[in-house]
Amino acid sequence: MKLSKKQLENTICLACSKPFIEHTKPSNGRGAGSGKFYLQTLLTCMFRIQGSFIEMADKQKAKQISDQAEVASEVEALSASNISDDGEVD
Ligand SMILES: [Zn+2]
Repeated sequence: MKLSKKQLENTICLACSKPFIEHTKPSNGRGAGSGKFYLQTLLTCMFRIQGSFIEMADKQKAKQISDQAEVASEVEALSASNISDDGEVD
């Protein structure tokens, strides 16, 4: 898939919900910012997105481990109940 410059410019940033092109230099206190695209602002957003991806990956990993432990204990409970069901009294 090939994106045009215009499409890229209008892509909404996940970190700040603004189109990529609206990543402009922050105001320096003397009124509004330059209004010109400023790569550093976009990179700051990229950094935030990367951070949340890593956090998500960590949570996913932790979830997988706890899921595996859950399955293991279910299997254990199942085989334990099978044994007692099979046992004949008298
Ligand atoms: Zn952004």
